[in-house]
Amino acid sequence: MEDCIFCKIIKGEIPSKKVYEDEDVLAFHDINPAAPIHILVIPKKHISKLTDLKEEDEALIGKIYTTINKIAEQEGFKENGYRVIANCGKDSGQEVMHIHFHILGGKVLGDKIVG
Ligand code: 5GP
Ligand code: ZN
Repeated sequence: MEDCIFCKIIKGEIPSKKVYEDEDVLAFHDINPAAPIHILVIPKKHISKLTDLKEEDEALIGKIYTTINKIAEQEGFKENGYRVIANCGKDSGQEVMHIHFHILGGKVLGDKIVG
């Protein structure tokens, strides 16, 4: 998708601090971290919003979660854990219209909205 900043990061047109990459998934540090660990995990396929997901994307979304665990192991925060947040649409405040999963960690996270 031409005007999508995350597609530009995938293509290397915008630099990023990469954490993990394979044929389907890319992970990189958030430019404006909200926690000591703040990594964004994105599919290489452009999907604007979670509400645009189709049945054909089910394996991809599953892969994103197992990839998050690989990243947690690689980066050394698997044992302490992490929080995953995915914003969707206007009410969530989604800013970048390419689905992404925020991994937050590196400290005890407060401000639980649910739970
Ligand atoms: P959203 O609010 O859409 O869930 O989150 C978008 C996230 O993308 C924000 O946390 C923001 O800091 C991050 N972000 C926006 N532009 C860039 C960029 O060019 N590079 C990186 N690494 N992160 C970005
Ligand atoms: Zn995109």
